[in-house]
This record gives sequence, C-alpha cells and structure tokens, in this order.
Amino acid sequence: MSEALPDLPILNRTATPPVGLVLVPTPIGNLGDMTVRAIATLKAADLILCEDTRVTARLLTAYGINAATAPLHDHNEDQRIPALLERLRGGQRIALVSDAGTPLVSDPGYRLVRAALEAGLPVSALPGPNAALTALTLSGLPPHPFLFLGFPPRGGARLAAFAQLRAAERAGLSATMIWYEAPSRAGETLADLLAAFGDRPAVLARELTKHFEEIIRAPLSELANRFANADPRGEVCLLIGPAPAELEDADDLDARLRTALAGATLKQAVADVTAATGLPRKQVYARALALATDQ
Ligand code: SAM
Repeated sequence: MSEALPDLPILNRTATPPVGLVLVPTPIGNLGDMTVRAIATLKAADLILCEDTRVTARLLTAYGINAATAPLHDHNEDQRIPALLERLRGGQRIALVSDAGTPLVSDPGYRLVRAALEAGLPVSALPGPNAALTALTLSGLPPHPFLFLGFPPRGGARLAAFAQLRAAERAGLSATMIWYEAPSRAGETLADLLAAFGDRPAVLARELTKHFEEIIRAPLSELANRFANADPRGEVCLLIGPAPAELEDADDLDARLRTALAGATLKQAVADVTAATGLPRKQVYARALALATDQ
C-alpha cells in the first residue's frame, strides 16, 4: 500500500514512493538524517529487507513505521533472490536498507540489484547518508577525482593492495583515496598506508554525524604515530590526498632517466622515457641532458 508524502510545500505532491526494489539509505549515527522520502518509502513498503532486523527495528520504531521486515545479508542473499524477484514481478514494493548508510556500499544488496535488473524489474535508489562521502566533503582534501576502496584487506594482503595502488599512482592515478576501517585495525592500516604511499596529507574521520564527531587532518606520519598504540574510539574512515604532483613527476622522471641512461644512448633514453611517461619530449630531453652532464 502506498502512503502519500507529508504535506510539505517543497515536495512535489504527485511524487509517490516508487514501486519495485527501492534502495533506502538510513542514518550513519544521527537519527535525524532520515529523509522525508526515505520515511514515506519505508512506510509504503510491502517488505523491508534489512541487514539485521533488530538494528532496523529501532529506526522503524522511532519513525512509527510498521512494515514487515526480513533479513537479507551476505549469507542468505543468493538463496532469497528467486522468491524476492517473484514478489517484485507481482508488483510489490520492496525496500532494501542496511544497518547504517547507503545499501550496497560495503553492505549487502549488490547481487539482488543485479538479479532484479537482469530480470527487467524496476529498481530505484534514494540518495541519503553515506560515511565515505560525508568524510570526503569534510576532509579538506581534493574532492575529485576520488577513489572509494571500501575496507582494506587484512594481514599481508593489505600492504600488497596498497602497493598496487601506489603502482597505479606511478602510472598516472591521481585521486583522493577513502577507506572504511574497524577502529581496532586503524593503527596498523595507517602504518601500512605510510609505508606504501609515503608521508602526505591524510584524514581520520571519526563518529560522523554523532556527538563525538572528530575530523583529524594531519600528515599521514602523524596519524600513524598517534594511533600506533591507541585505537580511535568509534567508527572511522581513513583518507589520503593525491600524490604531490610536482615531486612525484620530478622524482619519477629522474629515476626513469637514470635507469634508461645507464643502458642506452641519450637519444634512445629520451625516446624511451618520452614514450613511457607521455611527457613532452623537450622536457624529458632537458632533464636527461642535465643528468648526463652531472654524471
Ligand atoms: N553503508 C555504509 C555507508 O553508506 O557509509 C557503510 C557500511 S560499512 C559496513 C561500515 C563502515 O563505514 C564503518 O566501519 C566505518 O568505517 C564507516 N562508517 C559508518 N558510519 C560511520 C560514522 N558515523 N563515522 C565514521 N565512519 C563511519
């Protein structure tokens, strides 16, 4: 059953909650961050799929929402999909929420969305709370391009994953990067970030939208040092700024040229490095000449 939106002049009165599967973001800590449309959509839902029904029950109670709920998490998603598609085919409104924030973003739901799209069933999404974007906009780091990487892998795989990103930076990637992390692993992850990326501007965003919200903007080395033996309290996002372009380019160019000059003529080295870096030949030649003269 569909419930009309509240009578607010700013709302388009003709807008009714969408049919089909609707992705509904929920607060990441501050109960007040439910949108008017999110409330109306959940009230109108025939079924609300929740990551954890007990967590969502608190939100539904706070907003007087009585719709039926059912769990959808990583372990039962595949198995539940056929029955859910059947209900969608029957014209039902099914809302998907996670414990907090935007569904699918480091949360379950992707496989259901794929299946519904492949079956040609309507899927829509409401905008709303998300920790990564809130942290990014507050960070003071360049907001785009940005790269959201979810949770880093654990153990040795983490440093390997960071090294891969660093290699991508050497190949031209230049973006603010954002990770989610458990507070108990923040210290070791910061240490690995420092080892892989070197010192650069970084941010630890803690308890966003909550009473103890804190945005710590500092060089990566300071953050790694500060949290080496003391876990941050509450939920955290970690961000690092893009590699400083000028230093990166200069270091990179010199290193490439030294290697090339060691095994080729100046002309050949310039040709190889120009092709590899995409930098103007004139710039590469001038630098190669300077290095060759220094030797
Ligand atoms: N779907 C959620 C979203 O849209 O942001 C993210 C879910 S993910 C399982 C949970 C992680 O998001 C936490 O471990 C933390 O890294 C980050 N997070 C969630 N809420 C946060 C908050 N209030 N402050 C800082 N980080 C938060």
